[in-house]
Amino acid sequence: MTFKELGLREEVLKALNDLGFENPTPIQEESIPQLLSEERDLVGLAQTGTGKTAAFGLPLIEKVDFNKNYVQALVIAPTRELGIQIAEDFKKFTKYIKGASIATIYGGASIENQAREVKRGAQVVVATPGRLNDMIRRNMVKLNQVNIVVLDEADEMLNMGFKEDIDTILSQTPNHKNVWLFSATMPKEVARIASTYMESPIEVTVGTKNAANKDIHHVYYTINDRNRYQALKRLLDFHPDIYGLVFCRTKRLTQEIADKLMKDGYSAAPLHGDLSQSQRDHAMKKFRDKTVQILVATDVAARGIDVDSITHVIHYNLPEEVENYNHRSGRTGRAGKKGQSISLVTGKEMNRVKAIERVTKLKVEHAQIPSGKEVCEKQLFALIDNVKNVDVKEEEIERFLPSIFEQLEGLTKEEVIKKFVSAEFNHFLEYYDGSRDLNSTVSDRDRNRSDDGGRDRNRGRNRSDDSKQRFHITAGTEDGLNKGAILRIVCQNADISSNEVGRIDLFREFSFFDVDKKHADRVLEGMKGAEFNDKPFKIQLAKSNGGGGGRSSKGGGKRRRRERSSFSSSNSSDGGRNRDSRRRRR
Ligand code: AMP
Repeated sequence: MTFKELGLREEVLKALNDLGFENPTPIQEESIPQLLSEERDLVGLAQTGTGKTAAFGLPLIEKVDFNKNYVQALVIAPTRELGIQIAEDFKKFTKYIKGASIATIYGGASIENQAREVKRGAQVVVATPGRLNDMIRRNMVKLNQVNIVVLDEADEMLNMGFKEDIDTILSQTPNHKNVWLFSATMPKEVARIASTYMESPIEVTVGTKNAANKDIHHVYYTINDRNRYQALKRLLDFHPDIYGLVFCRTKRLTQEIADKLMKDGYSAAPLHGDLSQSQRDHAMKKFRDKTVQILVATDVAARGIDVDSITHVIHYNLPEEVENYNHRSGRTGRAGKKGQSISLVTGKEMNRVKAIERVTKLKVEHAQIPSGKEVCEKQLFALIDNVKNVDVKEEEIERFLPSIFEQLEGLTKEEVIKKFVSAEFNHFLEYYDGSRDLNSTVSDRDRNRSDDGGRDRNRGRNRSDDSKQRFHITAGTEDGLNKGAILRIVCQNADISSNEVGRIDLFREFSFFDVDKKHADRVLEGMKGAEFNDKPFKIQLAKSNGGGGGRSSKGGGKRRRRERSSFSSSNSSDGGRNRDSRRRRR
């Protein structure tokens, strides 16, 4: 089927042609004709990478009257990155439609500019829930003529604590609108939204892309968390010809790992939402052109990466959602080529490997991180291979040869080879001389750690204080902070889901919250420089853990003093590890 047969307008067909979209993806083929022919609600079980933005975007665009200058369609997305990406896609789809205007609304940027964008006559608004609600409250946007509301990644929005915001926003829209909801999973809360706001919706389900691709070999390595970066380097060294994607959990970590790799001489580049569009385009271009071998990316930024010959996907951190594991891994093993999906896993994360195996029905094999000696062997043979296959640029080197021969006179062929290999290779031998075994032994408890989803999580909540890290932030009720807002800020900045946040205690000028200890570094990292209502606040570890299901002690002032004195001044998450900065040459 072609896009023309789906019944899209000429201007849009022309734009799709520019984008190189030849045929609709399965979800587009299924949803576009239904949404065009009827005024219906829709529930789409699909994740990013399936073409879902166009699946809702194209029919939405068909239904908007771009001669009128008021908001007719609203798309709500959980994160700023996703919102921007959707709006950019919409702008591309509508580039030949006269008068089309798409406004993008998200926190952390000037609210006045965004209000101006809407006022100028935007027909479509793409927004994150928190900022949109703010603008509704301030009368900066009117939704009383909205005909279509799209809720994208609804499960993620609820995970991030946006439930109330969504309810408020939807209550501002007319009753007769259509709601199109997309979600990768269908937990109870999403089903509640569907049943509250929709009437006999069309249901569209799109299977996971590349779920059981036989060309992908799945392996995991067990490591200690402190050796994660060393393990990554060793694996990269073991695969000298790698053309790969490395996935990290947060934007900050992504930047940090890319920086470290570049500093250590690898051909790497970062890709995440804090980079400007042109920086991201530049990184993508270098990766596509293969001038960069390793792209270090966040899940969100890596949406849309469609490169056929990726040899390895490395999960520097496992993703939160099993679906994302599939989505990441599906970037390799394409077009009939073999690929490897590699996970770096600590003993405590073993249950996540089990969950991946259970949900995907894939076997993820345990493997040993190669020793320094094995890496050296591999590199040596790669070097010899390169020597064998190198193109000799006769003309360019001709004039240097006589003096080179003169300098090497008296050496036998064997000696010359030994010296050349050593010149290229000594730094490697030195680097790996006496290198450590990076494999961590997984205890039987970890290996058999049950994967019982919710039950396990509940256990975690009720476990003693030991499982939680308490944080202190310098923002409180006085700043307008409430529990939902804290939840959202933590989840958004640290990229964790709301059920990993424990007790929250609010005070006038400051607040505390608990997070599973395993995420402590991420929270510290991710929340550095975070803001609430455009006001920055500081985060620190609180020394004594008050969380973990215990009741809060009463006694006002006393308690407050005690909590005040319990802050740790350290906010370094990296205890000075990764000191090994011996440079390697590529
Ligand atoms: P999405 O699931 O909306 O994030 O889309 C994933 C990627 O597929 C994006 O890079 C889209 O630009 C691309 N895409 C979406 N629909 C098509 C199509 N019909 N043909 C080719 N590429 C597409």
